[in-house]
Amino acid sequence: MYEYKQMNPNCIFRIFFILLVVFELACMLLFSGGRVNFVRIIKMAYKIISSQCTACSACEPECPNVAIYEKDGTFVINPKKCTECIGYFDDAQCVAVCPVENTCVIDNSYPRYQA
Ligand code: SF4
Ligand code: SF4
Repeated sequence: MYEYKQMNPNCIFRIFFILLVVFELACMLLFSGGRVNFVRIIKMAYKIISSQCTACSACEPECPNVAIYEKDGTFVINPKKCTECIGYFDDAQCVAVCPVENTCVIDNSYPRYQA
């Protein structure tokens, strides 16, 4: 005779969570035209390479989050404030205005601040 067993609530939660993640990944792939950079999604704060920074201060007033400040003769980014300009501009403004190439770069060791 068929025996009905109730599903464990933990199991239901796991299945729901997996479906949610799959749905989210499918949406990201769909809306990005298949060009999803998963590292960028998880970690996205910017940093300034101090050995290359000329301390011209061009980036400081352009940051919409006031994340850039002077420290010891160079400029640094507070990763807790940097949102990669999301919500303000299409591109990172510090990168756009910096005259020294590859000085404002993604800091893969720090997650983007999430409001
Ligand atoms: S990426 Fe945007 S928010 Fe982050 S430090 Fe640069 S200008 Fe500021
Ligand atoms: S714009 Fe570039 S070189 Fe100038 S202070 Fe900012 S990081 Fe340094």
